[in-house]
Amino acid sequence: MLILVDMDGVIANFELEFLNRWQVRFPTENFIALEDRQGFYIHEQYGPSLHDKVREITSAPGFFRNLPPIEGAIQGIQDLVTYGHEVLICTAPLSGTPTCLQEKYDWVRQYLGRGFASNMVITKDKTMVHGDFLIDDRPELHGRFVPTWWEHIVFTQPYNRHVVNRRRMNSWTDAKALFSL
Ligand SMILES: [Mg+2]
Repeated sequence: MLILVDMDGVIANFELEFLNRWQVRFPTENFIALEDRQGFYIHEQYGPSLHDKVREITSAPGFFRNLPPIEGAIQGIQDLVTYGHEVLICTAPLSGTPTCLQEKYDWVRQYLGRGFASNMVITKDKTMVHGDFLIDDRPELHGRFVPTWWEHIVFTQPYNRHVVNRRRMNSWTDAKALFSL
């Protein structure tokens, strides 16, 4: 099978890096613990008055390049390949962040290798991409098509726990149960 795997919130720990940088850069501001994150977009939970500060963190050169891998993700992707699947990294760039694309590419090349980097799909509209499964932490994916080709598996994060009745992957330890034949 062809398995599309999202980056942020699935293999790259966007939320952890954000929180670490937030606490260093703005130590006197409130922060939201990872377990208390609600809503897909960080800036919406932090609120309009902190929007520019959130943006400063996520648009800083080096932010995407330095995201730590999510626990078990790199081994998990290698396991999917071992099970006989083809895996493509499928990621949406963050708008207004000029270094994001290059840094995502460099990240994939470092952790997964040149083959994964040169085959990665970068698009805002994942409904345009064919595959059998899409592992993504974003609970709702809309675009040009209503995809009948891939099945969306929601990668569980605190901010998508409210979404019910969906096929889920709670962590990379679930990969074997979901995808080993
Ligand atoms: Mg994501």
